[in-house]
Amino acid sequence: MTESTREPPDGSCQTCGAPGWLRHFPGASPTSGIWCERHYWRLLWLHPLGHRGRVVWAGLVVALIVLMAFAR
Ligand SMILES: [Zn+2]
Repeated sequence: MTESTREPPDGSCQTCGAPGWLRHFPGASPTSGIWCERHYWRLLWLHPLGHRGRVVWAGLVVALIVLMAFAR
């Protein structure tokens, strides 16, 4: 990790309370907040509006449709 090279935290992560940084939501939502490295990463990948999460969720939906098509 590159934690040690980061600037000092802006506050506490709004999810877990660990030291975090104020930043824009990592996706298509006009919000910002304070997140630690871990929860920012989690939002980015797992939130349906996250830049990566969107792709992940779209992939899941496609996988589900394919599964249902073969389940008959
Ligand atoms: Zn956190």
